[in-house]
Amino acid sequence: MRKYLVLWVLVWGGMAAAQGGFVTIGTGSITGVYFPTGGAICRMLNKSQQDHGYRCVVDPTGGSIDNLDYLRNGWIDIGVVQADIQYDAVMGEGAFKAEPMDQLRTMFAMHSESFTLLVRNDSGISSFTDLAGKRVNIGNPGSGNQATMELVMSAYGLTIEDFAQATEFDGDIMLEAMCNGELDAAVYTIGHPSALIKELTGYCDTTILPVAGDEVIMMEMSHPFYRGVTIPAGMYASNPDDIATIGVNATVVTMAEADEAMIYAITRSVFENIVELRSLHPAFANLQTAEMATGDVTAPYHPGAERALRDLRLFDTSD
Ligand code: GLU
Repeated sequence: MRKYLVLWVLVWGGMAAAQGGFVTIGTGSITGVYFPTGGAICRMLNKSQQDHGYRCVVDPTGGSIDNLDYLRNGWIDIGVVQADIQYDAVMGEGAFKAEPMDQLRTMFAMHSESFTLLVRNDSGISSFTDLAGKRVNIGNPGSGNQATMELVMSAYGLTIEDFAQATEFDGDIMLEAMCNGELDAAVYTIGHPSALIKELTGYCDTTILPVAGDEVIMMEMSHPFYRGVTIPAGMYASNPDDIATIGVNATVVTMAEADEAMIYAITRSVFENIVELRSLHPAFANLQTAEMATGDVTAPYHPGAERALRDLRLFDTSD
């Protein structure tokens, strides 16, 4: 009899645990802000593991485009993706022309990212068009960073061939190459403040330049998710003045087939712990739940996210 009781407890326990399971979040390179974003989301979910059984782990990746590919292949459960790349994926544009992702689903938006043009002070570069003839890091393959750079380049009428050298380093190697003088400039679409940019501008004779000409204003007008943003004066040592550039939100997405209870648990734990979340990275300091719940959505909401946002009275049905 006791044997059966033990067996029953095991089966019952197994069923209870089966409600949960592992959740993998695809992020970006470990020096970026996506990686700690995934870490923060996981931390919020894991706090209430006892209630839902889900345990969350963070996967470093190449960034937005990789995360969408990995989602499509079922290698990760949720991913952090720039809003412009989410749009491309759903609409079948850019890198997704051949294979749009009609199964992509929205959960919520996170921090704002700025297209950040970093130049060495000895490079002689004073505007985006001055990149012609220079050694420029355009971002690693699989990053949203590189995809956005391609759009900005075409807005300014520049192609890869215009650069003396176009490298595809991720954040880590880019930092080293900039500091060693092996690069003249680099771009990174990233949330601010970021430790990587702090290091570059603090110790490596590097300045951030504005990218705010008519060319990018046209981009902002013709695409729903680009907007003018400011990197505030004094955020980095080398920039006493505000820096105007183009910006986009980071969003969190999943696939239609993702478990409803899992997506509910993640969404709910993020919004319920918003005060703590804001304190986990300086780029999260200004996160507002109303914007996170409704901002920068192309893909339809996942039903789990929609239910959580409704329960928290954050779901906006006005549009
Ligand atoms: N926005 C970048 C991308 O999509 C990632 C930036 C980060 O890691 O913070 O590739």
